[in-house]
Amino acid sequence: MSLPPLVEPAAELSVDEVRRYSRHLIIPDVGMDGQKRLKNAKVLCVGAGGLGSPALMYLAAAGVGTLGIVEFDTVDESNLQRQIIHGQSDVGRSKAESARDSVKEINPYVNVILHEQRLDVDNVKEIFAQYDLIVDGTDNFATRYLVNDAAVLLGKPYVWGSIYRFDGQASVFWAEHGPCYRCLYPEAPPPGMVPSCAEGGVLGVLCASIGSIQVTEAIKLLAGVGEPLVGRLMIYDALEMQYRQVKVRKDPNCALCGENPTVTDLIDYEAFCGVVSEEAQLAAAGNTITPKQLKEWQDTGEDIFLIDVREPGEYEIVNIPGATLIPKNEFLLGNALEKMPQDKKIVLHCKTGVRSAEVLAVLHSAGFADAVHVGGGVIGWVNQIEPEKPVY
Ligand SMILES: [Zn+2]
Repeated sequence: MSLPPLVEPAAELSVDEVRRYSRHLIIPDVGMDGQKRLKNAKVLCVGAGGLGSPALMYLAAAGVGTLGIVEFDTVDESNLQRQIIHGQSDVGRSKAESARDSVKEINPYVNVILHEQRLDVDNVKEIFAQYDLIVDGTDNFATRYLVNDAAVLLGKPYVWGSIYRFDGQASVFWAEHGPCYRCLYPEAPPPGMVPSCAEGGVLGVLCASIGSIQVTEAIKLLAGVGEPLVGRLMIYDALEMQYRQVKVRKDPNCALCGENPTVTDLIDYEAFCGVVSEEAQLAAAGNTITPKQLKEWQDTGEDIFLIDVREPGEYEIVNIPGATLIPKNEFLLGNALEKMPQDKKIVLHCKTGVRSAEVLAVLHSAGFADAVHVGGGVIGWVNQIEPEKPVY
């Protein structure tokens, strides 16, 4: 499926621009017409970090006329291993300003617009509306769903990418012509299940592999050349050095772009993604077990005390055999602590792992240092251990 160009061509290229872009101009598929379209294009990069760095640099070099940068963070030394748009002398500076300076150094003809703020439900539509195309370089699920939903609601295409350790993924989401991110991932993974790059690490150069796919797709969409990555997910495995593709279909039941949408405006993304407090995240790091591990402990007679911190109604629908119900509030109020055994390992679980992570933080600070929780909660248990049980 080829698509018409996103952008009308600019009136003309200057003599200097013709010289600068000559290697593009002699490609028949780009040519003068394509380069004029790039000049007229307005592209927004969400984030000037791992993916945003190569994306902004190549978009600038390619001659995209207007580049927007959404970024509120400052440059940290630990960014430099992969965020190549920033350098040593930028440490401590605003990332947005540092990125703008690099873009200007690469190509002074680019008009750079800075949005030095955290993207949220109050500003996202106004910012997105100023651009033809969005390149998503965010690293958290709440912002990812925010970007997707705003793009779908405004009818904008966006190029998505994600990276972790040696693995990367990329796709183009454009609800008018194909699936959206929610068609592929209807629900955010439970917190703690998918570690961030800060927790799990990322091979620096992976950013270039995925970021360059994103820029390639952006240029193709803007100029209307080639087959866009709409309805296809590119999966890159750097260790095996393999790219593979999977088809992604538009889901007629998608809550956002389906036939009977239930999400018709922006929502509370922190709540949707079950964003846990910093204390809970810290408590869960290194103290999260899988449902399989729990089953193993039960089967081998490990001396554990399994606690379900959900509400009684939820426990009635489905529960993990052997679990004692003590709702989360009992811990927050302090009542539950005296019921905790001193001679057994405490294992917590809830529905997906959000509430149990919060309780875990309470237990750790109360001195139960070896307490753990089950990542994915009872939902994960049913999926992995007892698939015949109901989920809710
Ligand atoms: Zn969708």
